[in-house]
Amino acid sequence: MKILLISPATDTEKRTNKGLMMPQLSLYILEGLTPPEHEVKIIEEEITDIDLDEPCDLIGISCMTANAPHAYELCSEFRKRGKTVVLGGVHPTILPDEALEHADSVVIGEAEGVWENLLLDFQNGGLQKKYHNPLPDLGKYVPKDFKKILKKRLFNLIPIMTSRGCPYNCDFCCVTNLFGKKIRHVPVENVVRDIQESGARNFMFLDDNIIGHPKYAKALFRALKPLNIRWVGQASISLLVNDDELIQLAADSGCKALFMGIESVSEEQMKTMRKAIKEIDHLESAIRKIKKMGILIHASMVFGFDNDRQETFKEAVRFLIKNKVSTVSFNVLTPYPGTKVYDEMKACNRLTTDNWRYYDHNTVVFRPQHMSPLELQICKVKARKEFYKLRSVLKRLTGNLYSPLIYIATNFGHMKQVRVEARRIEKLKTELF
Ligand code: SF4
Repeated sequence: MKILLISPATDTEKRTNKGLMMPQLSLYILEGLTPPEHEVKIIEEEITDIDLDEPCDLIGISCMTANAPHAYELCSEFRKRGKTVVLGGVHPTILPDEALEHADSVVIGEAEGVWENLLLDFQNGGLQKKYHNPLPDLGKYVPKDFKKILKKRLFNLIPIMTSRGCPYNCDFCCVTNLFGKKIRHVPVENVVRDIQESGARNFMFLDDNIIGHPKYAKALFRALKPLNIRWVGQASISLLVNDDELIQLAADSGCKALFMGIESVSEEQMKTMRKAIKEIDHLESAIRKIKKMGILIHASMVFGFDNDRQETFKEAVRFLIKNKVSTVSFNVLTPYPGTKVYDEMKACNRLTTDNWRYYDHNTVVFRPQHMSPLELQICKVKARKEFYKLRSVLKRLTGNLYSPLIYIATNFGHMKQVRVEARRIEKLKTELF
């Protein structure tokens, strides 16, 4: 049988640059789980058009929240053409009944341990409405077609996931609801096998926190060192800087950049968050320590917490420039379904739209406490613009001279995006505010 696996675009009019698009690992894992007698075609709509009349027997669509509305449109088009569609991914896992209004079946959570059964059921004419394996075993090696993954990408960056699950259950995050409280790991030897089979040198670890389990992380970094690779990933700043051996092993194993969720530099806000670092001085010395190891820092900031005021943005930009942070994502708080923030805002009638398309951590979809939604949206864009001004880029370069090319390339990429984002405000004014 022929199976089509699709990752839908959020907006087909405004697709990501082909080369920059990160491969959607979940589709390649699904392909690896599919018995070899079936033919699989993968379509990442951000880089390839979908032919709704493509001959196939079964269609699997994986979506997040922002691309769920378009995924539902695709379901409707395919089903009109007599096709069977299965939905999976973050959004259908959190809202399976909503997804079932559009698809024939839903995979809740992870596909390991259910995908093969789903295919058998479908072949035997007994497809069930829901499939769910609450705690899949990640011990079995899943082969991936690395040639296909790397095709037409500008950066030969291979995505790898070594763990799932998180014990913290932060108010604005749905990872714990999605993957459970217990951290489960892919065996180190299987991670090494992926790296060796890919033949690539550059990797991105997609784990929410690559050092969430320090003992595993140390074993992983030791195994990576002889492979002579370069990698980037996400890590908790406090765990990293409190363990000298861990940070040294990360650097020795080829870590070039870390994505760190700083979220806020307002001490008032920091005290309310479940983070080990609650003071600015402590945060500054942690940043210095990581930079000393030659690791670029990409900080993730979130604006729109109930303590945030317009001054919060200036304070944050001052801090980020002063500490010569390499690059920053300027996000707005997004009450994703499945999080405590969503439940609270819904209960207080603070959500301004229920169109999931805007739930993308870039668009304000709620009424903030100390400003209007439009003010929050404008302040976020202005803060990003200020941080990526040429003067700031040059000033911060002096603190990132250990990786000048990556620093300059990524900063120039962001400078271009700032212009695109500023133009979007006018459109949002008519659509949302
Ligand atoms: S924000 Fe990070 S630490 Fe908090 S629940 Fe999500 S993944 Fe876990």
